[in-house]
Amino acid sequence: MLHWRIATRSERLIGNLHLCHASSKPFLPVNHSAARLESRAAHTISRPAYSSRSASRTIARGTPPSRHQLAPGYPTPSNRALVTSSSKSSEASGRSGRAAVTRQRGADFVIEQVNIGAPRHDEVLVRIVASGVCHTDMVVRDEEYGPLPAVFGHEGAGVVEAVGEHVTNVTVGDHVVLSYAFCGECDLCHSGHPAHCREVFPINFGGGRLDGSTSTTDTQGERVHDHFFGQSSFAEYAVVNRNNLVKVDKNLPLDMLAPLGCGLQTGSGAVINAMKVRPGSSFVAFGAGTVGLASVMAAKVAGATTIIAIDINLQRLELAIELGATHIINSKKIDPVQAIQDITGGGADFTLECTGRPSVLTQAVDSLGFFGTCGIVGAAPLGSKVELDVNGIMIPAKRVMGIVQGDSTSATFIPILIELWKQGRFPFDKLIKHYDFDDINQAVADSESGRVIKPVLRIGKV
Ligand SMILES: [Zn+2]
Ligand SMILES: [Zn+2]
Repeated sequence: MLHWRIATRSERLIGNLHLCHASSKPFLPVNHSAARLESRAAHTISRPAYSSRSASRTIARGTPPSRHQLAPGYPTPSNRALVTSSSKSSEASGRSGRAAVTRQRGADFVIEQVNIGAPRHDEVLVRIVASGVCHTDMVVRDEEYGPLPAVFGHEGAGVVEAVGEHVTNVTVGDHVVLSYAFCGECDLCHSGHPAHCREVFPINFGGGRLDGSTSTTDTQGERVHDHFFGQSSFAEYAVVNRNNLVKVDKNLPLDMLAPLGCGLQTGSGAVINAMKVRPGSSFVAFGAGTVGLASVMAAKVAGATTIIAIDINLQRLELAIELGATHIINSKKIDPVQAIQDITGGGADFTLECTGRPSVLTQAVDSLGFFGTCGIVGAAPLGSKVELDVNGIMIPAKRVMGIVQGDSTSATFIPILIELWKQGRFPFDKLIKHYDFDDINQAVADSESGRVIKPVLRIGKV
């Protein structure tokens, strides 16, 4: 019945609309916004499913860690107060500037004047020029993730203003893109998987450095938590560990490069670094937000010849075609599993779950063919379970893999993405809409409503 082929853009849309009417059973709730489709997916650093050296280090979302759960050196409410926030190793002074501070769960961001301390010996003071807005920023604003008050934001880009005495990878005046934090000392960091660092949760969500210290104070001298994803980029200045920085060409627009450090890296890295999508293969993105669309672009770069995007937002599906999708599926209208089986002739080689919805993960696994691989980048709420057909995985030799930040080493992967962008092969600029820093709450609203895929705040001049 369903005739699938590589058609023109308009043909595909018409075909899809036709298919929309072919089923009366929507795949997802009608009132579920496209922004929510990408729920929690624009970053994938979440609570680690594994232990952090021991099970006692795993910190549950929504549950403030009790002292006995914490490893030595991890900040506790008592020892946090004892740690100074000032630099001891750098002669550089701190800065005063504006930052979007969250003092209350679920409240709008409020821009305040704050003071940022000088960088430590292994840190860099960055004047933020732009920052992407990621769904994770809304999650931590609204839910019990780490202490408040805090400055969030984790897709920053800016200019180096001061460096600690042990920093050699950047100098004052360099332009940098900021990415996630990692310890750089554990076995997983050493084996080339810093995105799966054993300290990934406390170092990115702990509200300060691993020793509990912070850099930010408000005008009353009270501490404001920071180092979110090692950066807290909703601010005019950020103190960042040297490991989190990627030096970029000064001729490139920082307000375009900012989102590379999380969402874009997550989707493209999942395809290129983690799943290793191969030429001639079939690839499916479940969810067409920033992560899903980045994966579509990367699948095209990797040589996949059947690229399927699934969403409930037709504008996003149209964009997916522009970015390289050969087929689109409106999952509100038709069963994506059957459609994928039809398109691929028995199942996809690769599927990527970007929505954080367990029911969608089941679909993503069911859509695989023999020796197919399903990647998970959408973080579901802690404790989420998924129903899978055991024999349906074993006999066709399917694989399911978790992926954080695309298993990317930012320092080497982001330059690759920039080069692909310069060549027109990774046109992520089509996802971006810019906002003034003062309009941060409008940017968030437009992201949550699905009107904008990737808002980027313009915070300072180059
Ligand atoms: Zn993110
Ligand atoms: Zn590590």
